Amino acid sequence: MPSTAVSALSPHELSASDLDSAAALAEIGKIAVTDLSAWARAIDEGTYPATLLHRFADAGAFRLHLGEGHRLGSAIEGMSRISEVCTSTGFMAWCQNTLVWYLINSENAAAKAKYLAAAATGHVLGGTALSNPMKSFFGIETLKLKGTRVDGGYKVKGILPWVSNLGPDHFFGAIFAVDGAEPVMALIDCADPAVTLKPCEPFLSMDGTGTYGVQVRDLFVPDDMVLAHEAMAFVKKMRAGFILLQAGMAIGLMRDAVAMMREVEGPLGHVNRFLETQPDALAETLAGIEAEVNALAETPYDTSPEYWRRVVAARLLAGEKSVEAAHNAMLHCGARGYVRAHRCQRRLREAYFVAIVTPATKQLRLMLDQMPA
Ligand SMILES: Cc1cc2nc3c(=O)[nH]c(=O)nc-3n(C[C@H](O)[C@H](O)[C@H](O)COP(=O)(O)OP(=O)(O)OC[C@H]3O[C@@H](n4cnc5c(N)ncnc54)[C@H](O)[C@@H]3O)c2cc1C
Repeated sequence: MPSTAVSALSPHELSASDLDSAAALAEIGKIAVTDLSAWARAIDEGTYPATLLHRFADAGAFRLHLGEGHRLGSAIEGMSRISEVCTSTGFMAWCQNTLVWYLINSENAAAKAKYLAAAATGHVLGGTALSNPMKSFFGIETLKLKGTRVDGGYKVKGILPWVSNLGPDHFFGAIFAVDGAEPVMALIDCADPAVTLKPCEPFLSMDGTGTYGVQVRDLFVPDDMVLAHEAMAFVKKMRAGFILLQAGMAIGLMRDAVAMMREVEGPLGHVNRFLETQPDALAETLAGIEAEVNALAETPYDTSPEYWRRVVAARLLAGEKSVEAAHNAMLHCGARGYVRAHRCQRRLREAYFVAIVTPATKQLRLMLDQMPA
């Protein structure tokens, strides 16, 4: 059940009005270039950075989207500054911000009252298990969690192969199928004995992201942990935000790719100028992505098909250009970027994650294909 921190939070701690976003972003950037930069290699090698996540939380990184209209630009910029140094941590920040996004959008007052402040201030850490539902809604696979209505809530079971930013007392948002009814979206408490976290096989990167396989065995999910009794409609409402928030990973990573290219301009510029992609061109591509993402982030509840298409197209471009940017940074850095100690090879491994995490490049292409022209 919820930790004491949840009930200890006073209502004013949730307020976004006491958060100066420019000051918060400056502090997030400062923590990133100092402490996170010193820890990035250890995180890449498997260390889960709980203390750093709490420091980012204290700086306001997980409540920049609580303000009026829930514009997402500042939250995305916060994650960009984190990802500029370490995409694993940028991804964990996305997991946390997405958990908060679910609570912002939930119409269950009891769940909001209990968990929104806790997640937004980082007192409760956690993530989201929506890859499988996001794929199932587009006919790619079926829902892996099944629930049955019982008195006061649902009994849920099933296995999820990967859920990130987890730990023994963390929470995550999930969707389960219910026989004869709409799928339901709810919070799952990792501390419940009916939930088991299983370590994953080592990945190409992201080993420090607290990613586990999750087994759920007849878990009782009370009604005050339900985010939406009609998950499909809920996903439709918050899906643009879910996707746009991922842009922070791509923008930060691309900024660093440009920086790495410029760092070697002095010693290697005379030969690097023959490479096809130059830092100025990459910076221009990045500026275009940032401008489009920032424009879309102003209106995350726009329901028009044109808006949705632009969101999906922007996410696709962000993933593809992340890989391209990290690839070109490697070509510019050459052997000095290929050694373990250099961040260039880590950035290249991280970039593939941006392109394969749900919605992956292939799913985004499928989604665009299914949209009316
Ligand atoms: C490091 C990491 C962190 C992730 N964190 C999250 C998270 O926090 N929340 C979340 O919802 N999803 C998470 N995912 C899942 C991710 O978003 C994708 O859904 C996943 O990579 C599969 O997408 P795909 O497009 O490759 O699926 P496809 O190629 O279409 O594969 C389809 C299905 O095959 C199965 N599959 C394939 N390979 C394996 C395997 N090695 N082991 C078990 N099953 C397999 C899975 O069911 C998968 O969904 C994470 C994945 C990784 C690698």
